Amino acid sequence: MIYIGCHLSVTNGYEAMGKTMIEFDGNTFAYFTRNPRGGKSKEIIPKDAAALNALLKENRFGNPVAHASYTMNLCAANESTRHNGLDMLQKDIERMANFPDSYYNFHPGAHTGQGVEKGIELIAEALNCVLLPDTQTIVLLETMAGKGTEVGRSFEELRGIIDRVKLNDKIGVCFDTCHTWDAGYDLVNDLDGVLQHFDDVIGLDRLYAVHFNDSKNPCGSHKDRHEKLGEGYIGMDAMKRIALHPALQNKPFILETPNDNVGYMKEIAIVKSWMESS
Ligand code: FE
Ligand code: FE
Ligand code: ZN
Repeated sequence: MIYIGCHLSVTNGYEAMGKTMIEFDGNTFAYFTRNPRGGKSKEIIPKDAAALNALLKENRFGNPVAHASYTMNLCAANESTRHNGLDMLQKDIERMANFPDSYYNFHPGAHTGQGVEKGIELIAEALNCVLLPDTQTIVLLETMAGKGTEVGRSFEELRGIIDRVKLNDKIGVCFDTCHTWDAGYDLVNDLDGVLQHFDDVIGLDRLYAVHFNDSKNPCGSHKDRHEKLGEGYIGMDAMKRIALHPALQNKPFILETPNDNVGYMKEIAIVKSWMESS
């Protein structure tokens, strides 16, 4: 089995997200640690955090996946953007101590013209600044579509970051199906081959979570536009094979598809029906 859920808003607090996901009939979820565009963070009330943590255990949820702000760019050429990103990363990771079950996932960054090698170095440098021996949170690099100057568009680039991080037992990967497809990994015709390649380059033991999205564009398009399950170029059959793949069992699968609540409930029900019939 996999854990299935969707991205939720933190507006009504932390426990509220857990309750919403129970209503949606899912058993994991994702949320932004701060405003995705502006970078402001939601205050954490200890009682609310404790209530969520208890709810997760009682209902046997899979690990939630907290998502960093899109404005955080650890490898920007602009120094103040970079420092700002480092500050966000540090504060986010401190705040994650309130949520011991949550993973923390971020987009590695965009090198903005400095070249991918420099980008990899800067990202690793930032992680080396903030990860301490007593950091409990697992930090996940997201696989990227390769739009613009994004770093992380290949498994090798992610490996490059991991290799340069000293405390890299705390580093994992969040596998976004839309992004890897858009990056050129053929999940439709060669799913086994793609996952084997991931294992060879990074190691499947580092794959902690999946962003479960169809894509509005063909493989290799480098676009990053998510689509509803079965309505994009990956298609329902391949999405089903991904969800049922032995290498991906027991992971949280997060829908980031363009949906309202009803749409998410439908997709959660679809994924659960695959598990029941398999
Ligand atoms: Fe993301
Ligand atoms: Fe994603
Ligand atoms: Zn995306």
